[in-house]
Amino acid sequence: QLASRDYRSETREVKIGNVTVGGKSGNTIVISGPCSVESEEQIRESSELLKSLGLTSLRGGCYKPRTSPYSFQGLGLEGLKLLSKMREEYGFSVVTEARDATHIDEIIEHADVIQVGAKAMYDQGILRACSKTQKTVLIKRGFGSTLQEFVQAAEFVLSGGNENVVLCERGIRTFETGTRFTLDLCGVEWLKHYTNLPVILDPSHAMGYAYGVAGLSRACIALGVNGLLVEVHPNPKVAKSDASQQLNHEEFKQLLQTLSPIASSV
Ligand code: PEP
Ligand code: MN
Repeated sequence: QLASRDYRSETREVKIGNVTVGGKSGNTIVISGPCSVESEEQIRESSELLKSLGLTSLRGGCYKPRTSPYSFQGLGLEGLKLLSKMREEYGFSVVTEARDATHIDEIIEHADVIQVGAKAMYDQGILRACSKTQKTVLIKRGFGSTLQEFVQAAEFVLSGGNENVVLCERGIRTFETGTRFTLDLCGVEWLKHYTNLPVILDPSHAMGYAYGVAGLSRACIALGVNGLLVEVHPNPKVAKSDASQQLNHEEFKQLLQTLSPIASSV
């Protein structure tokens, strides 16, 4: 299997925009931004924050895989165009989610990384479409999937012809209801041991509450992961999705300060 260490013993090098993760790079990429792109004003505020902190990767959802059809579904193509504008103006690499295979062409045009969300991890239409491009694909682990199933999702992309795959652990569902999900750090060690793919962690979706995101981020760095995906919003209280888990700008700045002694974040 192409993702296994038996096939290739070294961790693969994968590009997120201009930044290389994995391999011998030693980089810890911080991919951050709001859960959803909501307006030009909002995404510009996020961009200014990232720029002020020297970060280069902006995330934001435009096609949101919401559990309810009555919740905010994302700005769609309008949102992608806003991300594209930020990418051009600030030189960011942009990470955004495809909820459906029909979104892939638009995302390729406007972004650098195609995110396959936890709910879409089993969607072979999306995975096969991702395999036909050379864009980096960030696959999030389904919250009810085994590690083996997670890696097999990556195999669909790798075997279809796209070697640029990054795995993202974002929490799995357990019996615990006090936190939104449970960040599977054992699983991360398994992925590092058995696979050759870079691994990044998403403490925001795992925890579900802003108060735990900084501590978990430091735990992830201590584990030696290739990156973090952290949600941050100019005003989380009024966020149109995932309001409770997004850091405000002050909290995010403080988090990065505590990370800088333990990781050279890009
Ligand atoms: C997201 O990154 O905003 C998201 C929807 O994540 P997940 O697919 O992990 O739930
Ligand atoms: Mn989110």
